[in-house]
Amino acid sequence: MNNKDSFLKLKSSIPLSVKLVAVSKTKPKEDISEIYSYGHKIFGENKVQELVEKYEALPKDIEWHMIGHLQTNKVKYIAPFVSLIHSVDSLKLLIEINKRALQNDRIIDCLLECYIAKEDTKFGLSEKELIELFNSKEYKELKNVRIVGLMGIASNSNSNSQIISEFNNLHSIFNRLKTTYYSADESFKELSMGMSGDYPLAIQAGATIVRIGTLIFGNRIYL
Ligand SMILES: *Cc1c(COP(=O)(O)O)cnc(C)c1O
Repeated sequence: MNNKDSFLKLKSSIPLSVKLVAVSKTKPKEDISEIYSYGHKIFGENKVQELVEKYEALPKDIEWHMIGHLQTNKVKYIAPFVSLIHSVDSLKLLIEINKRALQNDRIIDCLLECYIAKEDTKFGLSEKELIELFNSKEYKELKNVRIVGLMGIASNSNSNSQIISEFNNLHSIFNRLKTTYYSADESFKELSMGMSGDYPLAIQAGATIVRIGTLIFGNRIYL
């Protein structure tokens, strides 16, 4: 893609109420600068080192989202600046994020990654594990993380009905958790689901955040 009209066309196909994360992983800083010059300020990366390098080199009003699997020992590198971590998949990781957030005197917004796909290659927690996390004493003591919703990745499938049912399932899990744990708290409101191949289905199923890479930056080349 990489031209203004096609980016703005994609942007206008997404309701204003849905946040677009431009997934810039593997792409050079120049590509991000270009999309930034069209007025877009939310970018997502899936590797800590790449995220830190790009954060350091690019304008400071960019909102950086961590969307990939995060190792506990790397949280410290992104804790000073990350806006939202989409991929929290264990209490242990959440405890580490809380510790590093405290050291940086901030509260870090997080999404819990929920496993919805048929494949067993994807990271994430089941509904049962999410409930265990919310009920745990350790979780209730964390003051420097804020769980603002859930993230999920649908199966890499040609079947729209399969993908729709996975997104609907995630939305139902979100609703049940919200009712049980956040009924008096507006902060639990985000549902991050939908990528280049399935974002219209995700929006129909209630996504509030979509994460789009290929449609914005073109195919990724992995060396
Ligand atoms: C790479 C990635 C995306 C974007 O994928 P595209 O198909 O290029 O839009 C979204 N979410 C996660 C977690 C990713 O790793």
